[in-house]
Amino acid sequence: MKKILSIVGARPQFIKLAPLSRKLRETPAFREIIVHTGQHYDSSLSELFFQQLKIPQPEYNLGIGSASQAQQTGKMLIALEEVYLKEKPHLVIVFGDTNSTLAGALAAAKADIPVLHIEAGLRSYNRSMPEEINRAAADHISDFLFAPTRTAVENLETEGLKKRTYLTGDIMVDSLLDNLPTALEKSSFPEKLGLEEDDYMLLTLHRPYNVDDPVKLGAILRLLAAVETQILFPVHPRTRNVIARHKIDTPGNIRLIDPVGYLDFICLEKKSRKIITDSGGIQKEAYILGKPCITVRPETEWVETVQEGWNILVNPEDPGFIEKVTGFWPQAQRGDIFGSNVAHRMEQEIEKLL
Ligand code: UDP
Repeated sequence: MKKILSIVGARPQFIKLAPLSRKLRETPAFREIIVHTGQHYDSSLSELFFQQLKIPQPEYNLGIGSASQAQQTGKMLIALEEVYLKEKPHLVIVFGDTNSTLAGALAAAKADIPVLHIEAGLRSYNRSMPEEINRAAADHISDFLFAPTRTAVENLETEGLKKRTYLTGDIMVDSLLDNLPTALEKSSFPEKLGLEEDDYMLLTLHRPYNVDDPVKLGAILRLLAAVETQILFPVHPRTRNVIARHKIDTPGNIRLIDPVGYLDFICLEKKSRKIITDSGGIQKEAYILGKPCITVRPETEWVETVQEGWNILVNPEDPGFIEKVTGFWPQAQRGDIFGSNVAHRMEQEIEKLL
C-alpha cells in the first residue's frame, strides 16, 4: 500500500483537497494522511470547511499560524521535515500557491520524497505577489505537475517542465459540482439576509495590494457606492482587520458579513447577478456558474476566463471603473476550460505514477 501525505493549510486548499481525498481513500492501493499546517486557523476559514466538505480530520495539525512570509514558511519547513521523516511517504501532494504549498514541496524535495503539485503552471507574471513566487518555485521543485488548463501546460512547457506535466483539469470543478445541489437545497442565503436572487452583486477582497493599504481599500468601497445594486461582502479576516483598525466607512449599499462556509458561498455565487473579486478560485467558479466576473486586479492567472469574455480586469483608479462594473455583460458562449471528473483522472494518473 502506498502512503500519500496531502499538505493543506488555507481555505482554498481544503476545497481542492476534498474531492481528491475522497477518491484516494476509496482506492485500496493508497493510504492518505492529511497534514494541516495551521496557516488558516480561524474556524470560519478552516474547521467549517472540514465539516461541510466531509474531509477527514487531519492526522497532523502543525499549528503554525500567522507570521511574516519567511517565518511562516521556515516554521512549516522544520515541522514538515519531522513529519516526513517519521511517516516516510511514497508521495507528498501540495495544492495551489500558498506558503504551505511551497514549504510542503521544498521539505519533501529535500527529503528525497516525490512531490506532486496540483494546480501547477499558473502564472500571473506579477512577481510582487507572494503566491506567484510560491507557485513557480513549487513547480520547479516538484516531480509531477498536474495542470488545470491548457495555458498552464503551455507555461510549464515554456519553462522546460513538459516531461513532468499532466493535463488533468481543475479539481475545483469537482468540488463545485459535487456540492452545488446540496448547497442550493440547504443554504438559506441570500434570502435570510432579505436579498433576492439576481438582485445583488457578491464582493470579495483579500489580496494584500487591495486591502493592506486602508486608503486604497476605503477608496474601492466608496467607489462601489455608485453601483445601484446591493452588494453583499463576506469579509475575509485580513480585510476585516484593516476595516476595523482604520475605521473605514462602508457605503450603505454594501452589506458586510463574516466569511461564510462553502455551501453558503457557492449558493450566494449561483444566485448573484455579478461577482466582484480579487480571488483566484472565485474567478473560476464565476465562469463555471455563468456569472459575469469583475476582477479587481491588474492581471490574472486564469487568462482563459478573460479571453472567453466572462471576466474583466478592472483598476479602481481608472476613471471608467464604475461603468465597467455596471456595464459588463458577457455575450459569448462558455467553453470547457477546466475539464470534468477531475478527481478520478488525478487518482488514475497517481496510480500510474507510483
Ligand atoms: N469561499 C467561501 N466562503 C467565503 C469566501 C470564499 O467558501 O466567504 C470559497 C470560494 O467558494 C472559493 C474559495 O473560497 O472556492 C476561494 O478562496 P480564496 O478567495 O480565499 O483564495 P484564492 O482562490 O484567491 O486563493
